[in-house]
Amino acid sequence: MPIIKDDKDLPKTEEEWKKILTPEQYHVLREGGTERAFTGEYDKTFDDGMYRCAACGAELFDSNAKYDSGCGWPAFFAAAGGDRIKFLEDDSHGMKRIEVRCARCNSHLGHIFDDGPKEHGGKRFCINSAALNLARNP
Ligand SMILES: [Zn+2]
Repeated sequence: MPIIKDDKDLPKTEEEWKKILTPEQYHVLREGGTERAFTGEYDKTFDDGMYRCAACGAELFDSNAKYDSGCGWPAFFAAAGGDRIKFLEDDSHGMKRIEVRCARCNSHLGHIFDDGPKEHGGKRFCINSAALNLARNP
């Protein structure tokens, strides 16, 4: 996986992104695609570690915030830091949703909903496995 350390090394064109991402990663991250429910690598993963952006390596979600929502995609009740994520209104597919992107590289990650666990603030980040890379704790 790419871990791009310096922001100036981020790809600037979609052609450059295509070279470093797999076709599935590219579809999700750069074209706003969604992997099929219950098929993602991390849907049922609960190992300790840090979930990084699969495009740029930014640390996005701590495994401590991951829970089993049953929705078919990895679910988190919080991001690793508020500044890691940005939110955009998404009116596609006839729905009003809030899109979640990596604040650093502007890649699509998933959506956020208000049906998360109440004791943790009630948010559900519904994130594609293809948009993440889990750096497991040793
Ligand atoms: Zn990123």
